[in-house]
Amino acid sequence: MRLHPLLKISRNHHPGVLLILRHYSPLSYTPPHFFHVSTRNPPRMAEDELRQSLANKQAAVDAQAAAVRDLKAQGAAGSDLDAAVESLKALKLEAAAAASQLQAAVAASNGDGSSASREAFRQSVVNTLERRLFYIPSFKIYRGVAGLYDYGPPGCAVKSNVLAFWRQHFVLEENMLEVDCPCVTPEVVLKASGHVDKFTDLMVKDEKTGTCYRADHLLKDFCKEKLEKDLTLPAEKAAELKHVLAVLDDLSAEELGAKLKEYGITAPDTKNPLSDPYPFNLMFQTSIGPSGLSPGYMRPETAQGIFVNFKDLYYYNGNKLPFAAAQIGQAFRNEISPRQGLLRVREFTLAEIEHFVDPDDKSHPKYKEVADLEFLMFPREEQLTGQAAKKLCLGEAVFTGTVNNQTLGFFIGRVYLFLTRLGIDKDRLRFRQHLPNEMAHYAADCWDAEIECSYGWIECVGIADRSAYDLRAHTEKSGVSLVAHEKYAEPREVEQLVIVPAKKELGLAFKGNQKMVVEALEAMNEAEAMEVKTALESQGQVEFNVCTLGKTVTITKNMVSVSKQKKKEHQRVFTPSVIEPSFGIGRIIYCLFEHSFYMRASKAGDEQLNVFRFPSLVAPIKCTVFPLVQQQQYEEVAKLISKSLTAAGISHKIDITGTSIGKRYARTDELGVPLAITVDSTTSVTIRERDSKDQIRVSINEVASVVKEVTDGHSTWADVQWNYPAHSAAGGEGTQ
Ligand code: AMP
Repeated sequence: MRLHPLLKISRNHHPGVLLILRHYSPLSYTPPHFFHVSTRNPPRMAEDELRQSLANKQAAVDAQAAAVRDLKAQGAAGSDLDAAVESLKALKLEAAAAASQLQAAVAASNGDGSSASREAFRQSVVNTLERRLFYIPSFKIYRGVAGLYDYGPPGCAVKSNVLAFWRQHFVLEENMLEVDCPCVTPEVVLKASGHVDKFTDLMVKDEKTGTCYRADHLLKDFCKEKLEKDLTLPAEKAAELKHVLAVLDDLSAEELGAKLKEYGITAPDTKNPLSDPYPFNLMFQTSIGPSGLSPGYMRPETAQGIFVNFKDLYYYNGNKLPFAAAQIGQAFRNEISPRQGLLRVREFTLAEIEHFVDPDDKSHPKYKEVADLEFLMFPREEQLTGQAAKKLCLGEAVFTGTVNNQTLGFFIGRVYLFLTRLGIDKDRLRFRQHLPNEMAHYAADCWDAEIECSYGWIECVGIADRSAYDLRAHTEKSGVSLVAHEKYAEPREVEQLVIVPAKKELGLAFKGNQKMVVEALEAMNEAEAMEVKTALESQGQVEFNVCTLGKTVTITKNMVSVSKQKKKEHQRVFTPSVIEPSFGIGRIIYCLFEHSFYMRASKAGDEQLNVFRFPSLVAPIKCTVFPLVQQQQYEEVAKLISKSLTAAGISHKIDITGTSIGKRYARTDELGVPLAITVDSTTSVTIRERDSKDQIRVSINEVASVVKEVTDGHSTWADVQWNYPAHSAAGGEGTQ
């Protein structure tokens, strides 16, 4: 009888991630030869074949080189030697061709292009973002602090647009109850949630300098670099490294430490030896009040603020389920080695939804609205069998049980719509299901919205069915019952299982182990309890396995009573399940920057100009106003237009600098401004669209309404082009 699973604490950001480890050890698992966790083509077989082919060709080169050496040593005839050298040259060419083919395949399996071109692309994006103050390393004049960033004016505007759309798309659409809770959180709350004990990452230290590194990152970097740079890697070794990458999140401290040792991984900066991995809690600790006696933490997520308010929110909602609460706010995580710019930082904005639902009915009234959506999904099965992510119809994924329930499916669909409407490229967005050991043991199902950028696939939104774990944990710790009720129309007679351990007898028999035996008896499910009851009645005793003790004990008849009692119930009392979509706003924004960025040649062809093709929804400024030349009459018109834009609620900027109009267009494109108004007469103006660079002529009194139509999304640019005369750009974009 298995009452308590053997529990293992995982290095995973969600606390309470107690993984049930049965006979699975990620590294002892021998991958099938096709094992591969990548979503891109070409499939790994092709890469393996190329590796094999390169190894064969290299071996042929070595053999031929040896033959040439022998011929020379023997003083062979000139013609024989020439022929052998020619053949060696040909073989070397073949090997070089195979190497470059393999390099291309490896680059393709790591995303678009080689790592060098990805880095060059990233550099262009980041340079533009920093130069135009989208974001700034915090405390820059004091040389900054790793993992802390400020948003500058356009970054702030983008962020506030993303959050406004989030509120509209989720909070407004679903009538969610928005709350705003403090960042400083007393210890007891985070003790109950499991963060104090388990919100850890595994860290290693440079044994000489004490510099800290995240253990899994070092292993990940090693495997990736080896796979990308070592073209002579045998296929089996490549498969092994890929397997390590796939199960990285599942590795225990011991397994990680063993792998670091096996691969001879040392401190990246000094090459000094590393310590064994050990857990490091990511929360920033503080104390509340002057006494120093009341410990607290900066919250690592916003969710707990919602859970502890469940009782009041449920009441506010008329004691009805389902309902969702939402919160936007700062989260703090003392990341061991922050990197990848805005993607891994120590303070960031989270937007979280906790949707409370009856565990017996996870249907969703609006599910039909998203059921027909089709997008890239990466179910567990496909990951474990080395297949690629594939386009699936959401409705079918829910119907076949790939996605656990309708509400979870509903949120996956809504997240897809949210991200793509923001401007995330749908072909670089996938929903990846957590692997069994990656998921908390209590969770019913989890999917991450991952966006591909120059750093690879990045988890930007986690969507988890966390069952009743959080509310139960806070009920237990606070003593306040966080439950919901379902009133029956008629009282119902129910049979209740009653297990009463006789603590005195158990104490006498098991002494210090009494508590664990009592807990194990109380945790029996109905079938197990009835089995125990039958055995006790027929034999007077039963052998009972207590997993937490790791052994079987003998329970006699006087140690426990098991019975079933009938009683009338007027209502059902239950702990709701929680479905939690959790959005890392900074990660979404960074990916959006990359997906929106492109470069185009200037008109003269002598310069590459940067453009962010933000949808109007997120663009930091909706339009710019340029008097064509510095003349008072044009400036007056520009001011008039600015007034009408303000009255229409359109964010805009006037640029009256004397620089050429082409340069001013380039500046506004670099900020991702969708429309630019050029004042070149006192009666009408031109409106230019950023990506097509097409222009139309519009009278001055209509200009604000045209801009509003387009930027509010009520008309497309093509619609207004149809209604207004085109303007020839002759000379206007001279420098572009
Ligand atoms: P988690 O609670 O760990 O599932 O995180 C929720 C979301 O927060 C993730 O999906 C990420 O988008 C985001 N996130 C987590 N850690 C960080 C970090 N250090 N920096 C920025 N965003 C983060």
